[in-house]
Amino acid sequence: MKLDPQIPSGPIAEKWDRHKFEMKLVNPANKRKYTVICVGTGLAGASAAASLGELGYNVLNFCIQDSPRRAHSIAAQGGINAAKNYQNDGDSVYRLFYDTVKGGDYRSREANVYRLAQLSVNIIDQCVAQGVPFAREYGGLLDNRSFGGAQVSRTFYARGQTGQQLLIGAYQSLMRQVHEKKVQLFTRREMLDLVVIDGKARGIVVRNLKTGEIERYAGDAVILATGGYGTVYYLSTNAVNSNVTASWRAHKRGALFANPCFTQIHPTCIPVSGDHQSKLTLMSESLRNDGRVWVPKKQGDARPPEQIPEDERDYYLERKYPSFGNLVPRDVASRNAKQVCDDGRGVGPSHLAVYLDFKDAIDRVGVEVIREKYGNLFQMYQKITDEDPYKVPMRIYPAIHYTMGGLWVDYNLMSTVPGLFVLGEANFSDHGANRLGASALMQGLADGYFIIPYTIGNYLASASLPKVKTDHNAFNEAADCTQKRINQLLSVKGNLGIREIHRELGRVMWDDVGMSRSEESLKRALNAIPKLREEFWQSVSVPGSPDNLNQSLEYAGRVADYLEFAELLTLDALERRESCGGHFREESQTPDGEAKRDDANFTYVAAWEFKGVGQRPEMHQESLEFEEVHPTQRSYK
Ligand SMILES: Cc1cc2nc3c(=O)[nH]c(=O)nc-3n(C[C@H](O)[C@H](O)[C@H](O)COP(=O)(O)OP(=O)(O)OC[C@H]3O[C@@H](n4cnc5c(N)ncnc54)[C@H](O)[C@@H]3O)c2cc1C
Repeated sequence: MKLDPQIPSGPIAEKWDRHKFEMKLVNPANKRKYTVICVGTGLAGASAAASLGELGYNVLNFCIQDSPRRAHSIAAQGGINAAKNYQNDGDSVYRLFYDTVKGGDYRSREANVYRLAQLSVNIIDQCVAQGVPFAREYGGLLDNRSFGGAQVSRTFYARGQTGQQLLIGAYQSLMRQVHEKKVQLFTRREMLDLVVIDGKARGIVVRNLKTGEIERYAGDAVILATGGYGTVYYLSTNAVNSNVTASWRAHKRGALFANPCFTQIHPTCIPVSGDHQSKLTLMSESLRNDGRVWVPKKQGDARPPEQIPEDERDYYLERKYPSFGNLVPRDVASRNAKQVCDDGRGVGPSHLAVYLDFKDAIDRVGVEVIREKYGNLFQMYQKITDEDPYKVPMRIYPAIHYTMGGLWVDYNLMSTVPGLFVLGEANFSDHGANRLGASALMQGLADGYFIIPYTIGNYLASASLPKVKTDHNAFNEAADCTQKRINQLLSVKGNLGIREIHRELGRVMWDDVGMSRSEESLKRALNAIPKLREEFWQSVSVPGSPDNLNQSLEYAGRVADYLEFAELLTLDALERRESCGGHFREESQTPDGEAKRDDANFTYVAAWEFKGVGQRPEMHQESLEFEEVHPTQRSYK
């Protein structure tokens, strides 16, 4: 299979404009003749469904929650990047593009990233027009703050609730289209299969999560905007409902899965406190604008933080990376936190934590300014830990947070299955091996508001799409397959809890495919995962019946998919014998412990083709060309 990324010709700054002009259009009167299925109502899905409805297409929009507003996007705290240069501090589209390619450790596609940076400015205008209440400065202009991996302030925010406010904006637009009857909303539906007819994506099979009914929907194209797969690690900052199911089932129907090993570990999460937890809580990266990260210089120093004098503290990020200090990218901050803890200098009861200290900032600007900027985050921290971060430093530790890998897409956001488009976190995105903070919201909204409305039109106008009905054989086969898997899950009737198995999978993934990975650990995981999968199918206990609300059944289906997908993620990590971004291979590091890329051998996207459960998938490579930003050893010193 030859992977063609469909990158338009011409200078990088002109590619998108040129492509927009060259793409075919669907005439306004014809748009109503097309039906587009959009799975997902997070920022990517809601913005896409609303925009396509506004254009005149018939849109069927699905989500697993009871309301689009409960999509995981609501959790985003810190902000969204845009190269507006309101601060006049040297930002530009080119600089955002440069920072993103460098931040991603030169493992993303330049043309896509440039387009993302260009569109970033439109997103802010769009959202302001919708009434998104971005923070403003005293003079009335939109305010910005800094995020990791950048030396300019370009992050727009709405206190610590940016995702929620952006989602309300997208939701309003979506509901307007629901009212106009251009979008039909199907909540509490889980997509369980993709229907491919004559090589094209023509529909989906879903389970109605309230009645248990297996439903079929046909369309002219399918969009997946189903989010990331961070919960393969069990504990993560993701919503517990986040899953890989839709992507994985599409992968089994022919969509290649790209760079699954590129997972992001966020440095500032509330540390794990015991076995009872089902998720972890993020403390936004925005806090690193004012908080200083440190640990005691002495190993095993058990004194409370206020009793450790200044000269016995190691502000290790400021010491090692004076140019970026506490605002180094996430991969760098996470690895350093792990290193100091491995060195016996971790703090708190588990010794797997470092301090994030606001004392200096409070002394400098006053407690009210800090409260105004981060009040809800501080409150959340206090509620969870029962410690007051205005008085004692927060304790933080890295946790799984985001997944850069996902279904492979070309420049048009189309997967290797014609007519199947993938948006937002679900695609292998523009973030290479490491996403910079505040760039996921930007990417999801660029995909939904500004890219898919053009590229899907080009597809619909060019493809031959005879009408298909849901009694087509391909629908029968997909629905049967779905029902069989459900029956199989319910028939095991073992004695092992689904959560127990998921937790064990998470342990394997975190220990052996986590913050640092070696050939030995990856081989160990590749040995453990199939055994765990076998155990699941022999001993899992899934109570209840298939024909009504059954959350255990939903959960079991997602964990079953993770038990297949985890093997692919691990294999991808094993095959990439270099360190880059969030993927740190112990065998590939510089003398001072930084990630060492191997550009000669690994400057490519690894896109995997499914060959059967337990069978070795086939890797296809898209080689990456860097004409603008020349790969160098990333340095934030
Ligand atoms: C705690 C936290 C804070 C964050 N803060 C920031 C930030 O400040 N800035 C930033 O840029 N990024 C941030 N991120 C990342 C960002 O929030 C996500 O990457 C982004 O919101 C993903 O949006 P999405 O639309 O792609 O997917 P999601 O918001 O995850 O939406 C997925 C949608 O798909 C639906 N779905 C999933 N599976 C199925 C299925 N099988 N069938 C039917 N429907 C399905 C869901 O119901 C949902 O509607 C943060 C992430 C976390 C975890």
